Amino acid sequence: MSSKNLKIAALAGDGIGPEVMREAIKVLRAVEKKFSLTVNLTEAPVGWAGIDAAGKALPDATLKLCKESDCILFGSVGLPDRDPSIPKEERPERAALLRLRKEFGLFANLRPVKLPKELSHACPLSKERQGDGIDILVVRELTGGMYFGQPKKTEEISAGAGKGTIQRAIDTMVYTTPEIERIAHVAFRTARLRRKKLTSIDKANVLENGILWREVVTKVSKEYPDVTLEHMFVDNGAMQLMLRPTQFDVMLCENMFGDILSDEAAALAGSLGMLPSASLGAQSGDRVYGFYEPAGGTAPDIAGKNLANPIAQILSVALMLRHSFGFNDAANAVEAAVGKVIASGLRTGDIFSASETNARKVGTTEMGDAIAAAI
Ligand code: NAD
Repeated sequence: MSSKNLKIAALAGDGIGPEVMREAIKVLRAVEKKFSLTVNLTEAPVGWAGIDAAGKALPDATLKLCKESDCILFGSVGLPDRDPSIPKEERPERAALLRLRKEFGLFANLRPVKLPKELSHACPLSKERQGDGIDILVVRELTGGMYFGQPKKTEEISAGAGKGTIQRAIDTMVYTTPEIERIAHVAFRTARLRRKKLTSIDKANVLENGILWREVVTKVSKEYPDVTLEHMFVDNGAMQLMLRPTQFDVMLCENMFGDILSDEAAALAGSLGMLPSASLGAQSGDRVYGFYEPAGGTAPDIAGKNLANPIAQILSVALMLRHSFGFNDAANAVEAAVGKVIASGLRTGDIFSASETNARKVGTTEMGDAIAAAI
């Protein structure tokens, strides 16, 4: 999609959500001005804020707004200490977050992990292993595989020879060709916007799913001759992320492997406050429904104190501009502004190290102001 009129539902949620969302909107307004866009952004309550406002974690009016919008810019939801009498199904994590993912058929999860050179102190790996900086995008299939395959149950079975019963748990890993094709297309298209290298992760030496995954991804790759494809077993992928993370550009994974590897990769960036994510639905014409949110949660320990790092939320805006609206220049401008401010030495507490000579600790608002000014 490449329309200059952007219809966005902004759901800040709970904890640090409203604080970091405020800074993201500030940056979006700066982008709107610079690139002559018309941003039609409407804010609505979700999570405990939804329960407080309308008695539901996902109020009807909020869902309606989402349906009428091109995408959702999401903060985060959930406050573990609030009202334990409210059942799990009605609590924000399930009633809002999982409901929205299901409602919009979000099958592709994009988790970029970028460690700028200036933040090498925040990374657990040695400087040598970080090379010129880590820049990986994990593309994870989100609606299939082991987490959803049937049968899925725990049953009592006979232990044999009069020994009574034992329990047996069954999970089923299942993928169809179309499910693999559609996530592979997302990964190849995204690799085209980056360094044009795709590493497809599987376990083709052991799993039937791995064999099919490898075959289908190889077939899809013929449509993207400009992207270099390599295959890697998941166990080696986990090891290579620690040994030589700079070899990766885009990593394509099925659901469970992606869950594990995206968190492993995230650890390389040093703080959850730096990590955005996008979840995309099916393409319909030139439109892809998108859901954009920081990788972290509501951070109740620092909420309301002007301590949260707004960069994950701001980088979610960049993902939104790129994937929902096709505004690559505007997306690049947001990422460049973040890079510039980091290079200038501004740090929120989570990425601050006293060992950096030119670093200056700032709050959420000052970080947002600086990034908006750098657009
Ligand atoms: P969390 O991600 O909220 O916090 C973990 C740690 O990371 C905390 O020390 C926190 O201060 C820090 N952190 C997170 N984001 C930060 C930021 N932007 N800047 C600086 N530091 C940051 O995880 P948690 O404490 O396990 O969960 C708190 C609540 O958030 C729970 O209710 C959980 O269910 C919810 N949650 C929601 C989402 C979501 O809405 N997508 C995701 C994860 C957790």
